[in-house]
Amino acid sequence: MHNVTIIGSGCAGLTAAIYAGRADLKPLVLDGHEPGGQLSLTTHVENYPGFPDGIMGPELIENMRKQAMRFGAEFKAGTVTEVDLRQRPFKITAGKDVYETRALIVAAGASARLLGLKGEKELIGRGLSTCATCDGYFFRTKPIAVVGGGDSAMEEATFLTRHASKVYLIHRREEFRASKIMIDRAKANPKVEFVTPFVVEEILAPEGLVSGVRLHHVKNGATRELSVDGIFVAIGHDPNSMVFRGKLDMDENGYLIASHGSLTKVPGVFIAGDVQDHRYRQAVTAAGSGCMAALDAEKFLAEHKD
Ligand code: NAP
Repeated sequence: MHNVTIIGSGCAGLTAAIYAGRADLKPLVLDGHEPGGQLSLTTHVENYPGFPDGIMGPELIENMRKQAMRFGAEFKAGTVTEVDLRQRPFKITAGKDVYETRALIVAAGASARLLGLKGEKELIGRGLSTCATCDGYFFRTKPIAVVGGGDSAMEEATFLTRHASKVYLIHRREEFRASKIMIDRAKANPKVEFVTPFVVEEILAPEGLVSGVRLHHVKNGATRELSVDGIFVAIGHDPNSMVFRGKLDMDENGYLIASHGSLTKVPGVFIAGDVQDHRYRQAVTAAGSGCMAALDAEKFLAEHKD
């Protein structure tokens, strides 16, 4: 029996683990299918307070993990497949393992979206990626494409110029959702070519490896083909909330809904991080909400000693 179980080991989950650990609750952290969450898939983090020169995302997350372990957090690998929140202790199933817990913090994050094209999933690892830091190195001196118009797309396009010979940035509109500083940085890079307003119609991979993309001009219907060895999809994320469908309140996009900080409609279940935040989605806001969830769980456990 665990006092508090935390689903997710990204910025929110690890911050919750640090706080719950320091409250002597010996939290159990279930890593999930993307241990470390999105910070572990990013490069330089320049806006996390306390690091005037920035810090690499994986290093920041590793530091948080060590900090949580120092205060007694226990980590288990595994993706949650089922939850029973009808009564306490709650039952959390991750494959063959079942955990019982007095309080639960859901910090399951959000996962990268794909374009929804035929054969796309099969091409992951065969030229298609959602993580520039993980896979950029494989495309040394090769031309590649990045899809998206947000900060992630700009960041990935700029980062990938370290490796690639050329980076096409494909976006479906002429306006960008990304912040000005990120757009300016990508535009100033001679290796980046903006290709707008185009959508990817087909990923060309006649031999099972990405060799190009066929694009469709959104306004005039023209078709254009680009020869690329890699395609990086950076079009946002979906919350990892599937197992909570019908059990916790969520909006039409699947983001869990918190009230009064981290509270849910089930007493003893708290939520934090990107699984409940489609607005701010920053490392620092995720960390802040992880702290709130742990403090709320601690208070709940103090009031419910059964
Ligand atoms: P985002 O801001 O939601 O942008 C997603 C982009 O993908 C949008 O431009 C969207 O186009 C496009 N898109 C969505 N679905 C598409 C589809 N099916 N086909 C083609 N294009 C599609 O996501 P994000 O860039 O991942 O950023 C998420 C959050 O993280 C933001 O708050 C961002 O500021 C933050 N972030 C910050 C940094 C940093 O500061 N270092 C780095 C990365 C991310 P439309 O614009 O047309 O909808």
